[in-house]
Amino acid sequence: MNRIAIVGGGISGLSAAFALEEHRSKGVAVEYVLYESSPRLGGVLRTDHVDGCIVEAGPDSFITEKPWAADLCRSLGLADQLIGSNDADRKTYILVRGKLVVMPDGLMFMVPTKILPTGASPLFSWKTKLRMAQEMFHPPRAADHDESVASLVERHYGAEMVDRLADPLLSGVYGGEAANLSVRAVLPRFAEMERTHGSLGRAMLAARKKMRQASAQQPPPLFTSLKNGMQQLAEAVVARLSPAALLANAPVQAIQRDGESWVVSAGLKSDEFDGVILAVPAYHAASLLSMCSPELSAELAGIEYSSSITVGLGYDRAVRESLPPGFGFLVPRSEGKRLLAATFVHNKFPHRAPEDRALLRCFLAGSNAASVWNSSDEEIIAVVRNDLRQILGLSAEPLFARVYKWKSAMAQYTVGHLDRLERIERLREQLPGIALAGNAYRGIGVPDCVRSGREAVKQVLS
Ligand SMILES: Cc1cc2nc3c(=O)[nH]c(=O)nc-3n(C[C@H](O)[C@H](O)[C@H](O)COP(=O)(O)OP(=O)(O)OC[C@H]3O[C@@H](n4cnc5c(N)ncnc54)[C@H](O)[C@@H]3O)c2cc1C
Repeated sequence: MNRIAIVGGGISGLSAAFALEEHRSKGVAVEYVLYESSPRLGGVLRTDHVDGCIVEAGPDSFITEKPWAADLCRSLGLADQLIGSNDADRKTYILVRGKLVVMPDGLMFMVPTKILPTGASPLFSWKTKLRMAQEMFHPPRAADHDESVASLVERHYGAEMVDRLADPLLSGVYGGEAANLSVRAVLPRFAEMERTHGSLGRAMLAARKKMRQASAQQPPPLFTSLKNGMQQLAEAVVARLSPAALLANAPVQAIQRDGESWVVSAGLKSDEFDGVILAVPAYHAASLLSMCSPELSAELAGIEYSSSITVGLGYDRAVRESLPPGFGFLVPRSEGKRLLAATFVHNKFPHRAPEDRALLRCFLAGSNAASVWNSSDEEIIAVVRNDLRQILGLSAEPLFARVYKWKSAMAQYTVGHLDRLERIERLREQLPGIALAGNAYRGIGVPDCVRSGREAVKQVLS
């Protein structure tokens, strides 16, 4: 019997457990135990139901283009629970000198592909618009080293593009800054487009043409989620696992090698396994592996993390009618606000709020979150409401407010991340039976975490 321990009960660890459960049900001689330090399973996947609204504490959806999370939902019998974002109303604003400016049509991620809407948009100065035109003639360039997203975008479009688009877009996903994040790890397509086409604009136009030729159908919604919120996914996985295999309130304190086996210690109990999947943040994996491989532990400890805060605010019909249409807005750091982004949930996923409610999801991360980290919930709500008053003119009292703090939960793929991953992989190979999963490695979003859990299972069983 192959015995596997999974450390961490977030979506990465749960996906690994579900993959093992699938093997078991097909008659493979395998057994698993999942250790979770907190009382609840799901990690940052947490949904509250307040006043008829579905309030997401952590992720609110996942990107449809990456199939692994939706595939997992289908395997769990949740196909009819999958919902798409309301892309007919998709519109995102950027705060520019205190005013919300709609992102022009034709921006693919941050690359302009339509001349007229971009040329007419007040989002960019004339200087940047001129850079965009010149960018179409950028010669191909094969970089021999990694660089930050800010550096690549600035080379192509100038600093304003970094401030107004690249940085806010990345803050919304990684809670980090474009000046620190690695192009190769975060936007590998950009590095590739620069190598093949030179101009990102020309490369995006070519990609769009190919996509149109390949499919005349309506594209799928950009984001997918679950009717009852993201926690529904974690709950559905848990319901398919053997309750005896799930140990909550069981922080793993040590992992040690004993001959061919691994000894996992949690509380006063130690247990022997053939393999261990570490589905915890890299800094926890670092401390658990410090005795087995100080080198691997040091590399894992080098992966940085950012903390974030989400604030859910519910309002009445009058506020809903007064808010602009669209999915929400992003705030460049240069605007000097604490808020980095806000989603109008009632527009993005309409059934998440009754028709007479507005639901806002506000996001703070990195230094913005750090500046209020030790404040009370009431103080954080006041800070967020002050920003909303300045940005949207919204001074109404919310019907409810919820604050969620996520300490060091978002890995930062800083410049050189892929080289670090290679070193980690080489060192991990020296510890047969150990596998790593989670958002620290090759994708921070829920779909990549699901994939990482499943791949970790293949690794420990091989
Ligand atoms: C606020 C926020 C918003 C996000 N929004 C989105 C989004 O909209 N879309 C998207 O795709 N992604 C989003 N993400 C990213 C995505 O949700 C996460 O990367 C992913 O859910 C992480 O899952 P995980 O299982 O790897 O880690 P976690 O969810 O952090 O789970 C790790 C678990 O390990 C446990 N643990 C730690 N140490 C030990 C130990 N020693 N012993 C036992 N257990 C331990 C922890 O208690 C935790 O439960 C968001 C993340 C955050 C924080």
